[in-house]
Amino acid sequence: MRNVVIIGSGCAGLTAALYSARANLRPLVIRGVEAGGQLSLTTLVENYPGFPKGVQGPELIQLMQEQAAHFGAEFKEGDVTRADLSKQPFVVELGKERIETRALIVASGASAKMLGLESERKLLGHGVSTCATCDGYFFRGKPVVVVGGGDTAAEESLFLTRYATEVTVIHRRDQLRASRIMQDRMLRNEKIKFIWNSVVTDVLDAPKGEVTGVKLKDVKTGKETLKACAGVFIGIGHVPNTALFRGQLEMDELGYLKSYDGSKTSVPGVFAAGDVQDRVYRQAVTAAGSGCMAAIDAERFLEADQ
Ligand code: NDP
Repeated sequence: MRNVVIIGSGCAGLTAALYSARANLRPLVIRGVEAGGQLSLTTLVENYPGFPKGVQGPELIQLMQEQAAHFGAEFKEGDVTRADLSKQPFVVELGKERIETRALIVASGASAKMLGLESERKLLGHGVSTCATCDGYFFRGKPVVVVGGGDTAAEESLFLTRYATEVTVIHRRDQLRASRIMQDRMLRNEKIKFIWNSVVTDVLDAPKGEVTGVKLKDVKTGKETLKACAGVFIGIGHVPNTALFRGQLEMDELGYLKSYDGSKTSVPGVFAAGDVQDRVYRQAVTAAGSGCMAAIDAERFLEADQ
């Protein structure tokens, strides 16, 4: 029987691991399929305090993991396939493996949202990507498009200018949602072009197995056009990874976990940290902060429960 199991190994889960390890709770971190979370898919992080010149996302995650391990946190590869929170001890399963725990910290994050097109699904990994850091290099000397108008789309498009001949941002409105500093960088970059008020209605060419362009629709005029490109980067936000907890933990209408009074969820002994419960801030530093809160709340729960 475990004291604390932490689901997720992004900066929320790793900070929860650090704090609960230092509280001698020997936490077990289940790393998940997207181990390291969003930070491991990014490049330079300039807004995490303590790094005046910035730090690479994967390096920051590696450092956090080493720090938690140094104090006794244990790590397990794999993904939770089932969770039973109906009674104490809670049960989490990884395939056939069953783990019991007195307290659970859910830090399973949020995953990239897709447009929902059949052609997008077929071409994912064959020209359609949700991660410029991972795949940008494949588009050296080729034109690409980025879908979205938030900070993710901004970061992806700026990163892609290193490789692509031209980066066209396709946004469904005529105003970006991205932060002012990112907008300024995009607007100043000569390689970045914009197509406003437009949505992607198809990715070409699924039968060929490669991306040759996108079909666009102007949402104001209804006019359809084609834009040739070799890659499509989807940067339209994220969905919380909470499917396992449907019907067990309270969620909002988008599936984000509801937390109360710090990191408490609707089930005593289950705590939530990071993007899985945050629709608003979604920053590395706020995720880390909420991981700390969840570990302290779990520690107090366990003390009271003895
Ligand atoms: P956001 O929700 O902020 O932006 C999503 C963008 O995609 C919006 O412009 C939205 O359009 C558009 N969009 C959403 N759904 C669709 C769809 N189905 N079809 C077409 N367009 C769509 O998500 P982000 O991932 O960009 O950012 C999330 C949070 O993370 C923010 O708080 C952001 O600041 C933060 N972040 C910070 C970074 C940094 O500081 N370096 C980097 C990345 C993210 P519309 O505007 O019309 O709603």
